[in-house]
Formats: sequence, C-alpha cells, structure tokens
Amino acid sequence: MYQSKLFTKTVKEAPKEEEARNAQLLIRAGFINKEMAGVYSLLPMGLKVLKKIEEIIRYEMNSTLKASEIYMPALHALENYEKTGRDDLDILFRTKLATGRDLVLGQSHEEVVVPLVKNHLFSYRDLPIYVYQIQNKFRNELRAKSGVLRGREFLMKDLYSFHADEEDFKSYYELSKKAYKNIFEKVGIGEETFITFADGGTFSKYSHEFQTVTDAGEDFIHLCESCGVAINDEIIDEQDSCPECGKKKKDLVKKKAIEVGNIFPLKTKFSDAFDLTFTDEKGDEKSVIMGCYGIGVGRLMGAILEVKNDEKGMIWPESVAPFKFHLIPIGKKAEKEADKIYRNLGKEVEVLYDDRQVSVGEKFADSDLIGIPYRLVVSEKTLAENSVEVKKREETVEKLVKIEKLQSYV
Ligand code: ATP
Ligand code: MG
Repeated sequence: MYQSKLFTKTVKEAPKEEEARNAQLLIRAGFINKEMAGVYSLLPMGLKVLKKIEEIIRYEMNSTLKASEIYMPALHALENYEKTGRDDLDILFRTKLATGRDLVLGQSHEEVVVPLVKNHLFSYRDLPIYVYQIQNKFRNELRAKSGVLRGREFLMKDLYSFHADEEDFKSYYELSKKAYKNIFEKVGIGEETFITFADGGTFSKYSHEFQTVTDAGEDFIHLCESCGVAINDEIIDEQDSCPECGKKKKDLVKKKAIEVGNIFPLKTKFSDAFDLTFTDEKGDEKSVIMGCYGIGVGRLMGAILEVKNDEKGMIWPESVAPFKFHLIPIGKKAEKEADKIYRNLGKEVEVLYDDRQVSVGEKFADSDLIGIPYRLVVSEKTLAENSVEVKKREETVEKLVKIEKLQSYV
C-alpha cells in the first residue's frame, strides 16, 4: 500500500485526557480514532491488526475446538435476563422498542444462545454442540480509562459449549485451555500470558482466566514461577498454596496483569433458566451442561501493545502486524528502484511503501511509531551495493541484503 494513499496520518500527540499507553500509541499512529471514553473507531491499520488477531482466534476455534461460527444480534429481550436473574447487572445498557418492550444491548450472549440452541437440540445425538461468534459487546463500564483494554463497546469472541454430561464438558474445557494457549502464543504474548485460577461463581470451584503480565494491567495475579500458573487476587485469600503444584502461598509473586481471556464452567445455570434439556439414551430428560469461553479481541490488541512497545512506538509481532515490510526510499534515484522492489515484493507479502515527499527523519520516526516488523531502506548508498538496508523493528543493527535475495532473506 502506498503510504501517501493511506487514509490516516500519524499525529504528534494523543488527546490530553487519554492516559493509556496503548490508546496513545494507536491514536498517534492513526490506527484508531477516539469517539468518547471507551468507544473507538478502527481505522485502516488498526482494522488490519484486529482482523489478523480474529483469524488466529478463528483458526483455533474451527480446527482445535471444532466449533461452528454464528452471529447473534446485539439487541436482546430484557425478559430473557429476568429469567437468568441478570436483569440487575450494573453494566447493562438498556433501551426500548417503540412498543415499549424493554431491551438491553448484549453484554454477553448466554440469554440468546441458550434459547437459540433449544430450537436445535432434540436428543442426546445432537450433543455436544459448540458455537461461537466474534461480535461487539456493550457494557456500561464505570471507568473506561484503559484505552482499548476497557471499552464500553468492544469486540469479543465468545464460544458456548453444550454437553450431555460433566465428563464430556471437562475434556472440552481442557481442550479449550490448549486452544487459548495456542492463540496467545501465535499473537506473540505467549511468554507473558498465564493461565490463572479465578472464582468459579455459584457452582464451580474455579474458572480460568488468561492473564498477560504488564504494568498496564488492572488485575493482580499471584504467579507460581515454578509451574507457570497463577491465582487471581480475588480468590487468593481462600488459597494457601498453588493449586497446580502445591507451592506455598508466600512464594507466589504478585504481578499486575490484563485479563485477555476467560473460560467458565456454567454447569446447568443457564440451561435450567430456559429449560434446555435433552432426552438421553434411556429416554430420560436431562439438563444440558454448559461452558462459555471468551476472549476480548480489542483488549488483546491493546495487551499485545502494552507488552510490545518502546519509547519510539509500537513493535508488532509479525503474526498480527498491519504490514510485514515498511519500504522507505531516500532520494530521487532510490525512489525509482523502490518502485520496482514494491511491485515485486507486494505480490507476495504486505508492504507499506513510504512514497511521501517528507523528510527522512519524519519517515523514520513514523516507521518506528507504526512498528512494522521489517524496515527496508533504499538509498544511493545501498544501491551502490545492489542492496537494501534491512532492520528489524526491535533491533538496532541494520543489515545490507542484496535486492534479489530480499524475498528469501525474510
Ligand atoms: P473485567 O473483569 O476486566 O471487567 P470480565 O471478567 O467482566 O472483564 P468477561 O465477561 O469474562 O469479562 O469477558 C470475556 C473477555 O472479554 C474478558 O476476558 C476480556 O478479555 C474481555 N473484556 C471484558 N470486558 C471488556 C471491556 N470492557 N473491554 C474490552 N474487553 C473486555
Ligand atoms: Mg472475566
């Protein structure tokens, strides 16, 4: 893509009231636009990153978890929330039909997915069922000061599983841990992200969160450094040792973290609310066992950024970067050669081509801010060697690479 044609430009300063580093960087680089606290538009490069994260998640949902993608509405009937007892949630956005019927904007989709599955579930042969969606959620968050980490409107991947018995649920729940681990590794924050024991609500002892360690986090976790699992601060009082390896509580390390995902055993809480039952092999009617599995897609983008940035800007992992190469010509002669390189490379990989007539300093500063994994500089000096200068965003050393070898080098 020609940078001169890119809709957005980088800006020197983020809005003054924007405190979060992730939002400051995303706004300055032109990836998002702030509409109000907790509400952002996604601009071309921000959307590209988000779509890449979505694809990584989708792959794990489809291939590892064998789930079917669906898309449910954001408008929900309040009656359904009365049935589950969630009509008094403080984060609910409420609205009404012209007829006066009360609605809420979806904050999660149990109240929709359970009645939906009820229409398609008849006998034990239909189970298990796994459905997921990637869709906007609405929560009237009291404070939205953490940029894309806490939106009032935000993108979530939510999966719901339905099982005939506890055993079948458990094996799927374990598989979901694996899928989640794969996702966080693939997006580049595997090392910083820990599975975390959290409160299981009314029915289960535990649920599990996936927490990414960074000072930008709003949560505290207690990390067991010997086995790599953590315990959420909210349940730590009931715990005297690591539930995984038994290490003493005093040896756990308290760290700030971002909850990027949450998997939750629901038992029959929601199925009972809507009489979601099935007939088993013996002809007996039974309640369906459920699980739900969320990932905040926008929050994940913010978490990656909070982990991967420096004083100059963002450092995108290759798997989610908006482009792979940032091609920068210096001088008229180099521009001609860069045109050729762009045409050749651009067929195979994603290149942002800085064809703007601005100073070299400005080009470099923007390149560091945008954080594309490889910077390719073409100048008279490099052309004398038939080469381009390649620099990885997170490294300081540059390397001359012959133009014809560029493709295979990276
Ligand atoms: P939190 O405790 O941070 O408010 P939660 O536990 O209420 O989050 P869940 O209902 O578990 O959130 O939602 C599933 C996932 O959606 C979370 O793990 C998180 O990644 C993401 N998420 C939740 N709230 C927000 C939000 N306001 N903005 C962006 N992502 C969010
Ligand atoms: Mg949660």
